[in-house]
Amino acid sequence: MIEFELPERYVAIRDEARALAGRIAHVAVEADAMSDAVHPEVLAALRDSGLADLVVPGAHGGRFDDVDPLAVCVAREGMMGTSAHLDSLFALQGIGSYAITRGGTPDQQAHWLPRVGRAEVLAALALTEPVAGSDLKSLTTTIERTADGLVVRGEKAFISNAGHAAFYTVLGREGDGWSVVLVPADAAGLSTEPSPEIIAPHVLGSVVLDDVVVDESHRLGEPGRGFDLVLSTLAVFRVSVAGAAIGLAEAALAEATRHATEREQFGRPLARLGAVAALLADSWTDLEQARLLTYRSAARARTDPLAALPHSSMAKLAASEAAGRIVDRCVQVMGRWGLIRDSTIERLYRAARPMRVYEGASEVLRLGIAKALTDEHAAGVR
Ligand SMILES: Cc1cc2nc3c(=O)[nH]c(=O)nc-3n(C[C@H](O)[C@H](O)[C@H](O)COP(=O)(O)OP(=O)(O)OC[C@H]3O[C@@H](n4cnc5c(N)ncnc54)[C@H](O)[C@@H]3O)c2cc1C
Repeated sequence: MIEFELPERYVAIRDEARALAGRIAHVAVEADAMSDAVHPEVLAALRDSGLADLVVPGAHGGRFDDVDPLAVCVAREGMMGTSAHLDSLFALQGIGSYAITRGGTPDQQAHWLPRVGRAEVLAALALTEPVAGSDLKSLTTTIERTADGLVVRGEKAFISNAGHAAFYTVLGREGDGWSVVLVPADAAGLSTEPSPEIIAPHVLGSVVLDDVVVDESHRLGEPGRGFDLVLSTLAVFRVSVAGAAIGLAEAALAEATRHATEREQFGRPLARLGAVAALLADSWTDLEQARLLTYRSAARARTDPLAALPHSSMAKLAASEAAGRIVDRCVQVMGRWGLIRDSTIERLYRAARPMRVYEGASEVLRLGIAKALTDEHAAGVR
């Protein structure tokens, strides 16, 4: 028999995440307006919740033997509807540290991962540069092996947690390939500065690496095989963006439904006016479609994250695009109340937009999905 319901242990994780979100809801407006600082109460609540243990492996204090993409996905679903700041803090602990999980030396893993899993230190992943975005292979940061160690030179831009992370997982060019190194935030030559504020404020900054020297033991994975680690990270965490998008869309729909039920025009609740009913119905339908694809893709990613990557990309594409459509309709349903600065719906409206850009912009995801489809066709799978 095919099981379409989320198993109980994942429902419990989503409830845990919702409870955490509920505890910080009173500071959510303030936290979600922060772009150059981490909200201390939100971070403390994340620490106390123990939920960051979902993003590190069991051998280093994690909740499960391996990081479980479905667990991360439902946790983000539980957080994002209340606070994008909380969601980002949680997700970045995994996104920034997964290369250590997969490619760190035992000493690096023992040093960093338990602290990441307790949210005692913040993690960051530094791929994007002032020029290189989707086309990451055009990046210009270099990693050079010398007698003194690995010299890292370049600039990273739009890096989440920049200025607040304890370490940066940096992708750079090494010879003919690309490698990943772990650069502690206190390394000599590393400096950060805030990025321009975006429509949904997010802790973002540039990371300047001015001939930073780190020991060879800071190398993550094999020299020249850096994209393997980047892909592994995306394979586990990309689908969790879809989880966050579902949480956001659900919160928006709840807000619009409440409003459309309470407010009357032309002698009837808005929800009974045909065009408004259609906006609500289409939104619920979009949400449930996205939810099914997301849970299914995350469940696939549990078994074999890399093989499931096209499905994770589909879920991220479908759910982030659906969240954009849903929250836009919800603003429409709420009329002038949908436009009030820092109201729940207005914050959700702004928070939805970057989700179609980061961790694979929609157009770039479509290219990857189509490539996987034609590869399967060529291999006779379809
Ligand atoms: C909130 C936020 C947090 C972020 N956090 C991090 C982080 O922690 N670490 C990090 O390294 N980066 C981070 N980024 C950067 C993010 O990864 C990039 O914004 C993203 O990769 C897209 O790159 P870009 O913005 O340079 O857009 P571009 O690559 O310039 O793309 C612009 C447009 O062109 C389209 N496009 C690009 N290439 C193609 C193609 N081949 N075919 C068709 N269309 C194409 C894109 O889909 C997009 O619509 C963050 C960004 C945001 C907004």
